[in-house]
Amino acid sequence: MTLSSSTITKKTFQLVCQKIKKETHDVKTYIFAKPSPETQIDFNYHAGQYVNFILNMAGTMQTCCYSLSSSPTNPDHVSITIKRIPQGKVSNYFHDHFKVGQSINVTGVAGNFCLDSAIPQQVLLISAGSGITPILSMLRFMVEKQCKNQITFIHSAKQEIDLIAQAEITDLAKKHGNCQIIYTLTQGTSSQWHGFKGRLNEHMLDNIKQINHYQSFVCGPKLFRKATRSLLLKLGLEPSNYHDESFGTYEYSKDNS
Ligand SMILES: Cc1cc2nc3c(=O)[nH]c(=O)nc-3n(C[C@H](O)[C@H](O)[C@H](O)COP(=O)(O)OP(=O)(O)OC[C@H]3O[C@@H](n4cnc5c(N)ncnc54)[C@H](O)[C@@H]3O)c2cc1C
Repeated sequence: MTLSSSTITKKTFQLVCQKIKKETHDVKTYIFAKPSPETQIDFNYHAGQYVNFILNMAGTMQTCCYSLSSSPTNPDHVSITIKRIPQGKVSNYFHDHFKVGQSINVTGVAGNFCLDSAIPQQVLLISAGSGITPILSMLRFMVEKQCKNQITFIHSAKQEIDLIAQAEITDLAKKHGNCQIIYTLTQGTSSQWHGFKGRLNEHMLDNIKQINHYQSFVCGPKLFRKATRSLLLKLGLEPSNYHDESFGTYEYSKDNS
């Protein structure tokens, strides 16, 4: 989205990048210092929410939303995790030009796709591709808060090389103690792959008993969300317990991750 500088509100503030972490061949995480309370900047957020970044790209102001992938319990840092989109203006700017030490303008936290203080007893987290980012924030948050709930996390990616934060997710599940992790790959797999193959289906959800007790949070492309919603409702999820996040209006034709 392009906007004139007059539409940038006074609520705009700066984040300074402290670290950049390569997650996969086309995904990087940008870790920023969290504004301290002394700066009078209110940077409270719920796991799953996003912020609006404002960039001056060759004299044109651009805004772009990114979900916070960090847990709100992290006192020092906030992070975003960005997938490089071929020909994408902002994602390529971040991947190719944005450096540690650089600051960036941000406007307030937003979004209803989030966990608030009433954390559900049974949570189903489902993501595809870069849609993992708000889900990762939720998972990190529930583990940090030592929630005694039951979590099932299902992630769909194209190939093993596309799996984001896999080792950390395994550790988080161990720390939590009642968190099942399920992966499925929609394109080629190696002989070492022990997870599911293909698009999300009923069989992958076999271990979920009494799905009507779950709150589900789904993030991924439109067709993925549509298929997932139909599947969950067919299995007995209450429509009001289905929550999802959209990253935009683009669509995928060949693959759902
Ligand atoms: C609430 C919200 C949260 C978001 N959180 C994240 C996040 O955590 N991580 C993240 O990587 N992105 C996230 N996005 C998407 C992000 O805002 C940008 O849309 C994305 O980075 C592409 O921007 P761009 O300027 O690089 O591409 P553009 O220059 O805007 O688009 C280039 C081309 O790619 C297509 N396109 C745009 N986005 C995608 C996509 N994701 N997949 C395939 N094709 C696409 C466009 O239709 C266009 O044809 C989020 C979006 C929203 C609305």
